[in-house]
Amino acid sequence: MNAVPSTLEQQLAAQLESLKQAGQHRHSRLVLPCPGGHCQIDARECWNFAGNDYLGLADHPSLITAAEAAISQAGLGARASVLVSGYTPWHAELTARLAILKQTPAALLFPSGYAANVGTLCALAGPDDLILCDRLNHASLIDGCRLSRARFQVYPHADAAACRRILSQQAGYRRTFIVTESVFSMDGDHAPLAELLQIADDLEAQLIVDEAHATGVFGETGAGLLSALDLPHDRVISIGTLSKAVGLQGGFVCGSATLIDWLWNSARTHMFSTGLSLPVCAAGCAAIDLIRTEPERRDWLARASAHVISTLRADGWNIPPATVGPVVPVIIGSEAETMQLARQLEEQGILVAGIRPPTVPKGTSRLRVSLSYAVQDCGIDALLQAFSACRQAGHGQQNGQ
Ligand SMILES: *Cc1c(COP(=O)(O)O)cnc(C)c1O
Repeated sequence: MNAVPSTLEQQLAAQLESLKQAGQHRHSRLVLPCPGGHCQIDARECWNFAGNDYLGLADHPSLITAAEAAISQAGLGARASVLVSGYTPWHAELTARLAILKQTPAALLFPSGYAANVGTLCALAGPDDLILCDRLNHASLIDGCRLSRARFQVYPHADAAACRRILSQQAGYRRTFIVTESVFSMDGDHAPLAELLQIADDLEAQLIVDEAHATGVFGETGAGLLSALDLPHDRVISIGTLSKAVGLQGGFVCGSATLIDWLWNSARTHMFSTGLSLPVCAAGCAAIDLIRTEPERRDWLARASAHVISTLRADGWNIPPATVGPVVPVIIGSEAETMQLARQLEEQGILVAGIRPPTVPKGTSRLRVSLSYAVQDCGIDALLQAFSACRQAGHGQQNGQ
């Protein structure tokens, strides 16, 4: 008979055990980043297809030089929250460059993209408000919706018609928000931003867009997907992170001067957290310059992505029809098969992320292949060869087309 667990330790051990039983237990592995899109893991050198450094900026010499200059002038830490004394010239410069990149009147830095999402949603929405949320939105958006105490309703993934239907049946709220990612982190597909904006216009809602995976990667200047739509600022709030294509760490919000002033004064994850470190801000400025002036990084990614998607599909792998860009999910289905394939690829020197519930819906476990400019064409060749070898060994067969 199982004894009823009594102490916290016993309860946690039992909960961990059931995670293990369900194949959902996670632990961290030591990964040493190496030059040229490589990394070392378990003493093996791998191509890194499991990161989000899409443009290969994380170890770019310009970023390192900028970071070193800031360190030698003023050291590392911001020493305080930005409201007290942690707002330095590096923070001001990075903020200004983000606003220019995103073509908004103003911007605000946060400790992370997670903090930007939670802080912004909680500062704007409350118990009298309604939030409509795409079903596949990132956990930080969901947590922000929950913590805001607004009423929140989920609409089917990327389904603008459903979003309109739900929103048009609602009345009596102080404010309504539509919240979506622009490029979805697990499917690599795009939100119907133009339609969502039309809905926001028609039904007087605000559109909040998380451009975490689009910043630096899409748009003529790397500003993301919103920039292509030439949107009015008073209906749209753009959130982003420095932790993906920018190659660093930190989050930000771009929008009107009034919005940013309000967030300065009310976003708690901004107010009660220490400012970003100085070298990160300095490197961020250098990264944004590269994003704007070296479109060849984006262009290579677009070509590499199209090549990887069409080659894997031709080889019988299941990639969602709407996938476009550097996040390439290869849907396997079963959790066990997914993790086994990830191991098999790793043995061939290819590191990809095996993604399973609860990160993605049950039955849609997948290999998440994320491409980086750092790996160049020979990395792409190695990736495709390894997938082909797995296919020949009989893997992923039941999901073939
Ligand atoms: C990664 C990610 C975040 C969180 O960004 P961090 O800066 O890593 O905290 C937020 N939203 C989406 C969609 C993401 O993929």
